[in-house]
Amino acid sequence: MSPTPSRRIAHLDMDAFYASVEWLRYPQLRGLPMVIGGARRREDDLIARLKAAHPEREWTPEHLAEIPVDFFPLLRDYVGRGVITTATYPARQFGIGSAMGLMKAAKLCPQAILLPVDFEQYRKYSRMFKDTIRDIAPLMEDRGVDEVYIDFTDVPGGQRDGGRVLARLIQKSIASVTGLTCSIGVAPNKLMAKMASEFNKPNGISIVRESDLETMIWPLPCRKINGIGPKADERLQSHGVRTIGELAQRDLPWLMANFGKTYGAWLHRAAHGRDDRPVVTESEPVSMSRETTFERDLHAVHDRSTLSTIFTRLCEQVASDLARKGYVGKTIGIKLRFDDFKIMTRDQSIETHTADPKLIRQVAGLCLKRADLSRRLRLLGVRVGSLVKLDEANKSVQNPKEKTGEVLLSAPKSAAHDTLTRDLF
Ligand SMILES: [Mg+2]
Repeated sequence: MSPTPSRRIAHLDMDAFYASVEWLRYPQLRGLPMVIGGARRREDDLIARLKAAHPEREWTPEHLAEIPVDFFPLLRDYVGRGVITTATYPARQFGIGSAMGLMKAAKLCPQAILLPVDFEQYRKYSRMFKDTIRDIAPLMEDRGVDEVYIDFTDVPGGQRDGGRVLARLIQKSIASVTGLTCSIGVAPNKLMAKMASEFNKPNGISIVRESDLETMIWPLPCRKINGIGPKADERLQSHGVRTIGELAQRDLPWLMANFGKTYGAWLHRAAHGRDDRPVVTESEPVSMSRETTFERDLHAVHDRSTLSTIFTRLCEQVASDLARKGYVGKTIGIKLRFDDFKIMTRDQSIETHTADPKLIRQVAGLCLKRADLSRRLRLLGVRVGSLVKLDEANKSVQNPKEKTGEVLLSAPKSAAHDTLTRDLF
């Protein structure tokens, strides 16, 4: 009789994902200080400038790897209010990082190359690496564009050398399909696997066993536990608790008295490396949304046509996200951020689930009419919630004749400022 296999959970994290995807087409930028952020991609601009400077030769998107480094835009030339999505290590050394304004970053590292974000490309590579994993180990939990959990327990090779054999296979397969590297931690549960994947970055594999808790996990600062944020960490430090080992020495009643029953009990379990959460293959999204921050503040009246175009595009993007992932939703909402940074949301439910861009646009437009648009806007977002899988929605339609007709809207609440915005968007 074979013994019950021990639980082996892997956390896989792609190394410097956005930058690495960019390096696939611009290998000449590898190793340079580089920032990704700001406006949408305008690849044609780069090609147009090249054609002007080197009319003797042909420039097409296939020649991206041959673009001279000095042709790329630099952070110092940026004007606008875009923020950094990611910065490479040589750029981070100058003190810049994610979410920092590009113009502020330009003061610290003006020589950094600035690339616009290209989420379409990142998502494409995200799908590629995840499909590669699922072919090998089907129990995979999607945790975002560049990370997943994988249940190794019953997969061939998942127990050999603590999971190292399977981890190596996955790493090699991803590299050959995408050209990208990743780091993998394999441990008895998600909590420890998440920490382990950071141990050997980049392109590393770390194996953590239950017996490694004291030597490998306890010396780490509490912040390394996914779920201990800066505020909790500050509280812990004020009590003299800096490492996970020190946290493990505090007893349960003390933790519950100081951090509340639920969080205190969780801290206690986490410090002892206990975590029973399963790897969930189908993580059902609650909602899908798209939003955009404008290069300059826009006004509902004066920038009507610009806003209208952006608004329509956001609705189309959400609709295509829904369609691609096979979802339909029945709560449609908008998010606005004004020039005073205040955020406002409005939503509206409809009678049937939809992924139709026109209907989403129509209902989102009704939401907009309920908003006070006298201030300038910094950000506009569109969201579709109350999602179900498309096939489930079809199943639940009992009487198709009734439902295929016009979609019924619950009556929108009218507001005093309706006149201002009635015909906008
Ligand atoms: Mg990553």
